[in-house]
Amino acid sequence: MRTLADIAVPVNLPKTFHYSIPPELAGDLVVGSRVIVPFGSRRVSATVTGFPEKAGTAKLKSIISIAGPPLSPDLMKLAAWMADYYLHPIGMAIETMVPRAVEEVRPKRVRMLRMLDGDHDMDAIRGPKQTALFLLMSERLTVPFSELGKFAPSTIKALCSAGMLEIFEKDEEPAAENQSFTPDAQPELMPEQAAAVSTIGEAVARGAFETFLLHGVTGSGKTEVYLRCIGALAGTGKGAIVLVPEIALTPQLLNRFRKRFGSRIAMLHSGMTDRERADEYRRIREGSVDVAIGARSAVFAPFPDLGLLVVDEEHENSYKQDEGLRYHGRDVAVMRAKLRNAVCVLGSATPSLESSYNARSGKYRYLRIEKRVDHRPMPTVEILDMKTSPKASLFSPKLAAEVQARLDRKEQALLLLNRRGFSSVLICGDCGRSLPCPSCSVSLTFHKNVRKLKCHYCDHQAEPPETCPNCGGADLKPLGAGTQKIEEEVAKAFSSSRIERMDSDSIRGRHAYDELLGRVDRCEVDILLGTQMIAKGHDFPAVTLVGVVDADVGLNLPDFRSSEKTFQLITQAAGRAGRGDTAGEVIIQTLNPNHYALRHSRTHDYDGFYDEEIRFREELGYPPFGRMIKIEVKAARENLALDAAMTGRDRIRRLLKGKETILLGPAPSPIAKVRGKFRFQMLLLSKRRDLIHSLAIEARKTVEEKFGKKVQVLVDVDPVNLM
Ligand code: ADP
Ligand code: ZN
Repeated sequence: MRTLADIAVPVNLPKTFHYSIPPELAGDLVVGSRVIVPFGSRRVSATVTGFPEKAGTAKLKSIISIAGPPLSPDLMKLAAWMADYYLHPIGMAIETMVPRAVEEVRPKRVRMLRMLDGDHDMDAIRGPKQTALFLLMSERLTVPFSELGKFAPSTIKALCSAGMLEIFEKDEEPAAENQSFTPDAQPELMPEQAAAVSTIGEAVARGAFETFLLHGVTGSGKTEVYLRCIGALAGTGKGAIVLVPEIALTPQLLNRFRKRFGSRIAMLHSGMTDRERADEYRRIREGSVDVAIGARSAVFAPFPDLGLLVVDEEHENSYKQDEGLRYHGRDVAVMRAKLRNAVCVLGSATPSLESSYNARSGKYRYLRIEKRVDHRPMPTVEILDMKTSPKASLFSPKLAAEVQARLDRKEQALLLLNRRGFSSVLICGDCGRSLPCPSCSVSLTFHKNVRKLKCHYCDHQAEPPETCPNCGGADLKPLGAGTQKIEEEVAKAFSSSRIERMDSDSIRGRHAYDELLGRVDRCEVDILLGTQMIAKGHDFPAVTLVGVVDADVGLNLPDFRSSEKTFQLITQAAGRAGRGDTAGEVIIQTLNPNHYALRHSRTHDYDGFYDEEIRFREELGYPPFGRMIKIEVKAARENLALDAAMTGRDRIRRLLKGKETILLGPAPSPIAKVRGKFRFQMLLLSKRRDLIHSLAIEARKTVEEKFGKKVQVLVDVDPVNLM
């Protein structure tokens, strides 16, 4: 009989703990069992990872009870992989997969009334109310209290006291599922769609791991491809997971899934209560659903068997978790598919450089859809050089005229305000260039308090020049300044039109968002202003113009992916134009009309953009050629944070023997102070993942040992957010 268990406890320590198994649980435990254990003075939910032969210490604490259903072997393997890859304690990795609250939810109890057996003395019944209740109960025997509303508590109590009826409680049963559901009609697939569906279908049928990159232009019918592949899987007993960037932002997509799969789908999103989430998890575990749809964390949906994982808009940054265990939902999806011998499909109109590289090098299989479903042409894209526009205006006469034309024709316009509020980059008003770091090719950030330009990758420092080093112009100014004015300017210029703004400040919650989308859809809005939120996969037939008000903000962010993100954003935004019967048009305002990200988005030329961008990545050893780890050091005092970062740097330098790894920094993070904490960051770059992983672990350990709790060290593997 097993007497010892190795347990992963959700604490910030990179190890597991031994516990003894009480005899009454010995037969019930497996690897993956969720248990309650004492830890310090607390009781915590934890997970069995193994059954060792010998205990490490003589004094062992004992497992208290079972906490919930066990984790499947593939999820246990996935947790071990995440802990190892993202340099995070195993107990915390499991905690990331199983929301504790979900386990703690107990089924709701309902009050019931039942008839007791025996010969009842009818003479004890008084009056018509009690008689009616007695007759009802004689017929139905048990009735929930919710159906007894017309009887007063005193009536019920009287028959209970007479020994005829009894009150009891039981677990609420889940609502019966809608049986009479007819799925919507499936359209006939276009040839490229059909080819993708059959290739993916063959792979799923083989039951061997494979990853596909489904690269299809906006409106090419990728969603229909997912629906078909999942439809083919339904009924085989294998489940499917669909990840979407942000579930609240995809009501149209969810509707299409509902129409096809009815109640055999589970939705997982952050707006759910613990009880709702617990119910969805249970349905998934019991095999009552064919597909689970959700944001990032739905990748852990506990299907007993899994055939397919789809990551829609795989290039989206929101797949990367930005706190705790900083995993990338897309990469975890690929790994889960691998551990489960399942198929993973990554879909996008603008794939990330990483995924494209993997597809081109044969690691993923590449599926392309070049044509839109309805043969509608791609919108025309025009780039407006703002250097020739009146300086004071944020809005060129051309864009103003095009918006007016839409208003006159009762069509709609979208105006994209690309990433507001980042102004610590200097840009030349004459040539449009920002000032780049000579060794890192990212914009230098301007630190106002010390009047210095700094590279936040390598900490290169320079005095801000009087004139632009590129063209000699004297008009160097902080980027994006005065951009809040755009909304005012639009309101002034088109005062009689209905203008709405959509961004994370103005839209709070899913309801507000759905409501606004509905109004746009019903053409109750003429001009929709917003951040990248408005570029997401919506389908608004009356939108015929998309204006990108200031493309330079995105282009000049101090981030090596700024060109990629700008290209993606503009291409996605352009995909919103001309979905109805009128051809679409896109206008991009910039000081930098020859920038390759803009040139290639003008011609919808993904490959052209990829070829230029990938060369730059290769030259500097950035991903996908090199692996990157960001180490961030935070403290309440600036020199403490710097001191700690330097300690980490020195440790890495001593260990860094070969030339295979580059260490950049420490440098102040571009947003140097967040919530009262000063931040410094270092970047490790190498082709060898094992090397930078061990360097990061050593640096973190050294700093933590020396500075204790006064300093926080955060390790981010494959960082996406470099701000
Ligand atoms: P994507 O996900 O690539 O942007 P969608 O799957 O949303 O494209 O398809 C765009 C539109 O075309 C949707 O309204 C969809 O219902 C429709 N559609 C998709 N496939 C077909 C098809 N084979 N025949 C007709 N309409 C289709
Ligand atoms: Zn630099």
